[in-house]
Amino acid sequence: MNIILFGPPGAGKGTQAKKLVAERGWVQLSTGDMLRAAKEAGTELGRRVAAIMDRGDLVSDEIVIELIEERLPDAERAGGAIFDGFPRTVAQAEALDALLKGRGAEIDRVVRLVVDQDELVRRMAKRAEEEGRADDTVEAFKVRLKNYNDQTAALIPYYKAQGKLADVDGMGTVDEVAASIASALDAD
Ligand code: AMP
Repeated sequence: MNIILFGPPGAGKGTQAKKLVAERGWVQLSTGDMLRAAKEAGTELGRRVAAIMDRGDLVSDEIVIELIEERLPDAERAGGAIFDGFPRTVAQAEALDALLKGRGAEIDRVVRLVVDQDELVRRMAKRAEEEGRADDTVEAFKVRLKNYNDQTAALIPYYKAQGKLADVDGMGTVDEVAASIASALDAD
């Protein structure tokens, strides 16, 4: 099964993706994690994207599409992919559809974690204290939220038109949200 965990920064996509990996054995494909790994390893790609990521802007579609393409065989072997933080633009969504189609597959469901903006700000403040991610600053978070609203939210009608969108309340505890995601995935 190929699913997208969708939602604004701080919605809990990464946390829920990791639970699905543990429970279902699928592969988490997080472009954010891949880019952070490149940055930490100091590769050429990492050096190219560091400043963009630190200020909360989006890196180019070409870069993230290539990262995803490289990892699709792993997900196929595992029997499932959880796309987390990808796609973030309509161009990325179209490229993903084409890549999957070329492999005889498709996105089965897009789970949208719905969390109100006050709660996102509260979670972000907590995350800045705990994880110390370079882009967990108030300024970078505002840019990320703006990019989500300006570019990524356009994917909601995109996947709705394909009949793949399932809204899940992302405001509960981690286990409550996980249970709602499981129901959304196992429905019909
Ligand atoms: P994330 O961990 O998903 O919040 O991603 C962290 C940062 O990596 C983002 O703020 C972007 O700078 C970059 N990034 C991750 N995924 C994408 C994507 N699909 N498209 C463009 N930039 C991305």
